[in-house]
Amino acid sequence: MTLRRLALSPSRAADFKQCPLLYRFRALDRLPETPSRVQVRGTVVHAVLERLFTLSPDRRDAETGRELVEPAWRDVLATNPELAGLFAGPEDPELAEWLDSARALVDAYFALENPRLLQPEACELLVEAELATSDLEDDEPLLLRGYIDRLDVAPTGEIRVVDYKSGAAPREVSEAKALFQMKFYALVLLRIRGVVPHQLRLLYLADRQALSYTPEESELIRFERTLAAIWSAIQRAARSGDFRPNPSRMCDWCDHKPRCPAFGGISPPYPG
Ligand code: SF4
Repeated sequence: MTLRRLALSPSRAADFKQCPLLYRFRALDRLPETPSRVQVRGTVVHAVLERLFTLSPDRRDAETGRELVEPAWRDVLATNPELAGLFAGPEDPELAEWLDSARALVDAYFALENPRLLQPEACELLVEAELATSDLEDDEPLLLRGYIDRLDVAPTGEIRVVDYKSGAAPREVSEAKALFQMKFYALVLLRIRGVVPHQLRLLYLADRQALSYTPEESELIRFERTLAAIWSAIQRAARSGDFRPNPSRMCDWCDHKPRCPAFGGISPPYPG
């Protein structure tokens, strides 16, 4: 069996900040979760947009995008057959409605960008970088890992990181979360390519809004210290097994509530 080295991703870092016990359940216990229809629709829309950029520019129109929705859903289902339980069956009228709502999000994408004019360097790009800062408590470098939805590189070398959000533009908390994720990618790119991305762009499909942000190197260096502090806190908790629950209104969406001590549940033994 190959053991993959434990790395920090934007979502796991956000989990730990939100609730250390949630981090443990997801990253260490790896307990299964049941994705919602909304989450799976996001996966399908991401797959459609990735596929769109494999087509020649002249074929990247809204109609083709809509046509890609159903095959993308079938592909997602083929790799995750348990998702079939989200609907009563292929004839479920709610499935048809749900596919239409995914098509509407794909349409919204075309209201924000013209993909015929874009030639991304990569879509769904896995990026990894090792950080060995003096802010880490252990000698072992911290491995950062994430997937960038799309990377555009201008002929002048300027880099743009694009992230698709299938939800609406955020309020304060989600905005901070989205920015955290984008700074994470910007830092990884700075470390592996030696350049600060020129633009971080979030495309919110549900309300057809785009948010752009230009990071500065100094803030990415500060952000690196924040990540080192989060990682050190994770390592301390991992050594002691002390991953405390941190109840918040986010618990209403937590799959692990029944086993969470903050709600009278009993956690499985710590896997170490
Ligand atoms: S229910 Fe709340 S406190 Fe418990 S693990 Fe989930 S997020 Fe953390």
